[in-house]
Amino acid sequence: MSSVPAIIITIDGWSSCGKSTLAKQLARELSYTYIDSGAMYRAITLYFLRNHIDWTSPAEVTSALQHISLEFRANHKNGQTEMYLNGENVEYVIRDLVVAEKVSEVAAIREVREFAVAQQQMMGRQKGIVMDGRDIGTVVFPAAELKIFMTADKAIRVQRRFHELYEKNPNVTIDEVRANLELRDYIDSHREVSPLRKAADAIELDNSHIGIREQLELVKEWVKQRLG
Ligand code: C5P
Repeated sequence: MSSVPAIIITIDGWSSCGKSTLAKQLARELSYTYIDSGAMYRAITLYFLRNHIDWTSPAEVTSALQHISLEFRANHKNGQTEMYLNGENVEYVIRDLVVAEKVSEVAAIREVREFAVAQQQMMGRQKGIVMDGRDIGTVVFPAAELKIFMTADKAIRVQRRFHELYEKNPNVTIDEVRANLELRDYIDSHREVSPLRKAADAIELDNSHIGIREQLELVKEWVKQRLG
């Protein structure tokens, strides 16, 4: 597909369903920009942890957010977009379990969400984006042209995330990974502000038993239909 008109594609769903894999492939195929909204919540969490911010205090959160600058920059060596926190490349460190263990708590804070959502909406002003997250089709871009909601069996999701983390840290255990995934899914779907929900007009994609290529072909068909 070349020089496709610019639309907004949202990909929401449970943790470790392969949202970012699909979003990156799709963005590449369409020459769109990929935006990993989860990286923003992870970077904010990293800042809070490093600076010992008491995130149960709304005043402390509001004041800390004023010192946070988030930016996605392209890495020309690997063609990927990477997350920068106050000018520092944090793409690698935000994937650590230490951050993963706290990110859902931080992402449930109203002030944090308002801060991140405003920036996400700015990034979509020109359209031509694929953004993945938890509330992209419901809250960030409720009028998006194509909305996908991803699911997969829990055991499969745990295995996938375990392999990903194990490559970076062989000390990680499958029990730790499962506990983190369950915790995040629970907090993300039960929080008061913007809980994880399938938008009424989102297409559900269960990729438990389909391969990455097959999944991409399927979604490209949906894109064609939306553009059609
Ligand atoms: O997508 P990823 O797993 O990296 O997101 C990390 C966490 O950030 C999620 O578990 C969720 O708590 C939060 N998040 C969110 N809303 C988004 C994206 C991520 O609350 N749009």
